[in-house]
Amino acid sequence: MKEDLLKEVYAGMGISREVYEYGERTLAALEDRFRRIDEVSEYNQLKVVRAMQECRVSEACLLGTTGYGYNDLGRDTLEAVYAKVFHTEDALVRPQITCGTHALALALMSNLRPGDQLLSPVGKPYDTLEEVIGIRPSRGSLAEYGVSYRQVDLLSDGSFDYENIRNNINEHTRLVTIQRSKGYQTRPTLSVERIGELISFIKGIRPDIICMVDNCYGEFVETIEPGDVGADMVVGSLIKNPGGGLAPIGGYIAGKRECVENAAFRLTSPGLGKEVGASLGVLKDFYQGLFLAPSVTASALKGAVFAANLYEPLGFSVVPDGTESRHDIIQAVTFGTPEGVVAFCQGIQAAAPVDSHVTPQPWDMPGYDSQVIMAAGAFVSGSSIELSADGPIKPPYAVYFQGGLTWQHAKFGILKSLQTLLDRGVLLHI
Ligand SMILES: *Cc1c(COP(=O)(O)O)cnc(C)c1O
Repeated sequence: MKEDLLKEVYAGMGISREVYEYGERTLAALEDRFRRIDEVSEYNQLKVVRAMQECRVSEACLLGTTGYGYNDLGRDTLEAVYAKVFHTEDALVRPQITCGTHALALALMSNLRPGDQLLSPVGKPYDTLEEVIGIRPSRGSLAEYGVSYRQVDLLSDGSFDYENIRNNINEHTRLVTIQRSKGYQTRPTLSVERIGELISFIKGIRPDIICMVDNCYGEFVETIEPGDVGADMVVGSLIKNPGGGLAPIGGYIAGKRECVENAAFRLTSPGLGKEVGASLGVLKDFYQGLFLAPSVTASALKGAVFAANLYEPLGFSVVPDGTESRHDIIQAVTFGTPEGVVAFCQGIQAAAPVDSHVTPQPWDMPGYDSQVIMAAGAFVSGSSIELSADGPIKPPYAVYFQGGLTWQHAKFGILKSLQTLLDRGVLLHI
């Protein structure tokens, strides 16, 4: 195909020749990175297919049940597939788990009892978990049920504070929660290998402590998952990586049989557990989404790497930086001005397949202490494996963005964000 044809189609979508060519120069230097991302995705694709084959996924598994959902072959087989993919004894994968926070709350609340203590050895957990734990007082929190909480922050260089972790483990410590992704913080995301080191350290002190990993945004970024390095529970959302963009709802908990069963008895009811919970019509999307997840995650990763390398030379600070190895799909870019944050997010929105004609504005979102602007033109509402961005309107004026069901769309969205910055005069030249 003539290169001119591509330039033309981009021009028709509002991307100037200058921005297009800057993008191509950036890409030319990323061949090696992209090849390595493709290799991981190839490995994970085979891992998923193998698990589906070994579990004898059949056409009947794609159908759903109604009512109580007894003998739901597709649901039970899918849970076996997840357990194989994450190398755990068992898994709970359900549309009744409404989101990632719910999956994490379920894992915690079902495996902790009054008098137990929860420890986070990796600093403050994701915002929404503050109310689950009761760090911010909240109705129904773990704190209300007599579960206490301790936290040990990472050291300033991002390493584990082993001494303080040891000092904060006592006879009440029942569960340790380890968040893989940095979420919306500036600390580094943890590699699975580092998570394994931390788990070994904790098990070395008390082998009966349950180690749970918040795996959100991390699935399929590496060839191994936390279950490979000793995690007792691995927890995540299906409207992020493992849903592959197709799952319309859902969460998963993969782990030790006892932990997963505890979660099932809490999700449904004591005595019922995994036996009930109709899958309705979502199974085909759960299976097909998982099948696509390795390649969708690779697309999102390429987008993140591309954006870091596009914005860094323009003087904006980016986390992770252009060359760092990746352990999740989130990319932060600091613009330093509200106008920069707004232009970026509006650019991402303008590139969306759905709702591209609406212009997101900063608003007072519940639970946040500043206005927030969000860009999301997604097929699944709120899905952040689809190209999406959000930025709190407060210093340092950074945006966090992630996702992209296809690399080609992620690329277009990122070019569109840069074009919007230029068109608004937030950025004067490239
Ligand atoms: C997204 C996310 C959550 C919460 O998931 P929701 O689906 O938004 O409730 C928890 N932890 C991390 C690290 C996340 O990225």
